[in-house]
Amino acid sequence: MAHVVSTSTELRELIDPSRTVAFVPTMGALHQGHLALVKKAKQLADQVVVSIFVNPLQFGQGEDFDSYPRSLDKDAGLLDPEVIVFAPSVEAVYPEGKDATPVVSAGAVGELFEGKSRPGHFDGMLTVVSRLFTLVQPDVAVFGQKDAQQVFLVRKLVEDKKLPIELVVVPTVREENGLALSSRNVYLNAEERNAAVCIPQAIAVLRQEIAKTNTARALEAARRVIESQPLVRLDYLELVDPTTFLPVESNYVGAATVIVAAKVGTTRLIDTENLEIVHA
Ligand code: AMP
Repeated sequence: MAHVVSTSTELRELIDPSRTVAFVPTMGALHQGHLALVKKAKQLADQVVVSIFVNPLQFGQGEDFDSYPRSLDKDAGLLDPEVIVFAPSVEAVYPEGKDATPVVSAGAVGELFEGKSRPGHFDGMLTVVSRLFTLVQPDVAVFGQKDAQQVFLVRKLVEDKKLPIELVVVPTVREENGLALSSRNVYLNAEERNAAVCIPQAIAVLRQEIAKTNTARALEAARRVIESQPLVRLDYLELVDPTTFLPVESNYVGAATVIVAAKVGTTRLIDTENLEIVHA
């Protein structure tokens, strides 16, 4: 059972400033994906801080802020006693309360893909990450590759603000059937859970097709896998250049990131993988 604190004063008392700190920001409802990040964090620093905070600023109107799964006691039980869990109240993070205005702008990339479907999401995410970085003062921060656009924007924040924090990215942890683990998977009923497997399947098809045909055709084939599943509504499936997070040009060759978002019933899921485009 990890030690849980809820104020920054308690947090500072527990952190030994002479030892290194690895930080894992989460919204809780921990699963094996989060635990892979914690495992990595333990390898990278003397002390590990896991934050559990459902950030109101990154949820839009009509999204699942109120119903988002919260299970602090269970989460603390999944972590060892050496891990410090920082589970602040909204006021501890935002003295202005849950209607605080985001103070960090995600810029143009923040308006694409997830940002297009969830306006303001990335400004809210970067604002909380920035506040948590200030409170925790980590040497290393560990994020999941599953949220590729988040990783891109946090990396940009660290670079732009010249923060002395090393970012480490952990590959996506999946169920045996390929579905990426997500706290939101608890919303899926059995039928939806089966249907959601079309998302990793579409990524697998893209990987196969990109080796054989051009990018546009490979993307069409991958999108068809999701579009032919009646319980799933595709939002986007794109290939982006990992250095700009912009869609790759048709003649692009090199490392690329496939990003997918789809609604399964009422649950919005995202997934991502890195791959290589070998010919235009
Ligand atoms: P969340 O609690 O969903 O905000 O996620 C907290 C961190 O865990 C983020 O850096 C996510 O990218 C990461 N994460 C979530 N799901 C997975 C997964 N299936 N595999 C690896 N990392 C994950």
